Amino acid sequence: MPELPEVETIARGLAGQLVGSRIMAVQELRKGMVEGDRERFFSATPGAVVTSVGRRGKLLLLHLSGEKHPECLAFHLKMSGRLFVYPQDAAPGKHTRVLFDLEDGRRLFFDDARTFGFCRILDAAEKNSWTFWKTLGPEPLEITPESFVRLFRGARRAIKAMLLDQTVIAGIGNIYADESLFRARIRPDAPGGRIARESLVRLHGEIQAVLLESIEQCGSSIRDYRDAHGNAGAFQNVFQAYGRAGQACLRCGASLQCARIAGRTTVFCAQCQKME
Ligand SMILES: [Zn+2]
Repeated sequence: MPELPEVETIARGLAGQLVGSRIMAVQELRKGMVEGDRERFFSATPGAVVTSVGRRGKLLLLHLSGEKHPECLAFHLKMSGRLFVYPQDAAPGKHTRVLFDLEDGRRLFFDDARTFGFCRILDAAEKNSWTFWKTLGPEPLEITPESFVRLFRGARRAIKAMLLDQTVIAGIGNIYADESLFRARIRPDAPGGRIARESLVRLHGEIQAVLLESIEQCGSSIRDYRDAHGNAGAFQNVFQAYGRAGQACLRCGASLQCARIAGRTTVFCAQCQKME
């Protein structure tokens, strides 16, 4: 699933292609891909101009301004969602689920082979009623170290389970949880509330560093992630923990362990990652 750096990369790529473009028509080619207030989605989108492309957690946001003034369209790519701009007259592909026709003839396709993704309109009313949006945790690149430390006070859950919980902090998934905990030398199964303040401050710094380094490399390409131009990212080439179970720890040489935490495969070094 694309995490924060991959969605950020896609958003930056789409911004260059879409800002200033007017959406003339929208079609849902597979029923169920448009969630939330469907009536408003289909009535407010045609005629709107894309003013900017952004991100909140793992949601990609197309901000719109138009006669009916919707706030934005939100896309969750989940496992296999993709957003690509195609030239005029491009035919939808086998996995194209939602199709936007732009004023200049180009087309934006929301493709999703596995159909776990969705899009929805996100206006003021939806921001007040959509539980997922209302409960999204803070952005990891914006939160201060002090506020970050407070997220874990008194917590009994494993730190990794908390990092994956989008209501605790938004945008982090399996890759960046494992990578940042490895770099911060914290065991993923350590209860959040038991970890020393200085370790959490270190984790805050490592999360920001790993996310920014990955954005710099246009994200990580595992399975079929591609950015808005169809390019693969390169951050997977410098993974230190994710996907390296059984290989030597790059810090101490011990064999990296594999465990299941919060239902996710977790890789860590039992020798140099600590419980507190
Ligand atoms: Zn180690």
